[in-house]
This record gives sequence, structure tokens and C-alpha cells, in this order.
Amino acid sequence: MVRKDYVYKNSWQVRLAEMKGKISIAREFCKGCEICISFCPQKIISLSSAMNSNGYVTAVFSNSDDCTGCAVCATVCPEAAIEVYRG
Ligand code: SF4
Ligand code: SF4
Repeated sequence: MVRKDYVYKNSWQVRLAEMKGKISIAREFCKGCEICISFCPQKIISLSSAMNSNGYVTAVFSNSDDCTGCAVCATVCPEAAIEVYRG
């Protein structure tokens, strides 16, 4: 018999959910395409109200404790504007 809590603690989904991360968005590279916003599974990226020097409204990270460091946002960003930190 397999205990439920054993399965729970060893599933990769739960390990990912327990990871902590944060991101940095290089505002001057961002073009406000919103792809990272659409793809972030935690929904913790949004558009800011401020424009960068190129006239784009840029993405902003909410500094939420919910970031898992999954790097989906950095992977999908066409401008390579996002760096991910895990810890
Ligand atoms: S690393 Fe993952 S959870 Fe964190 S902001 Fe990017 S997509 Fe969202
Ligand atoms: S995917 Fe990249 S360029 Fe697009 S809004 Fe997000 S940070 Fe900006």
C-alpha cells in the first residue's frame, strides 16, 4: 500500500510548488507584449503604468511569495528581458 502523503511529497508538481524564486525584468528591453503575463502559472506578473524610454508600457513582477522560479516567463520572453533567481 502506498501512503497518500508519500505520493504527495514525492510528486514533481509539489516539489515545484514548494520552490521559491523571484525574477528581475529589464525594463528597457521589455516591449510590453504580455506573453510572460499570459504564461506565468502563478499570475504574478502584470503591466505597469509606466513607460520605458522606448515608449513601451512594461511588465512588472509583484514580488509575490508565490513565485516558484519555474522560469516559464524567462523562457517565453522574446526580448530575453527576464532573469530568474531561485533560492
Ligand atoms: S519564474 Fe515562474 S512563477 Fe515566477 S514569475 Fe516567472 S513564470 Fe511566474
Ligand atoms: S514577455 Fe518580455 S517583452 Fe513581453 S511583456 Fe514580458 S518581459 Fe516584456
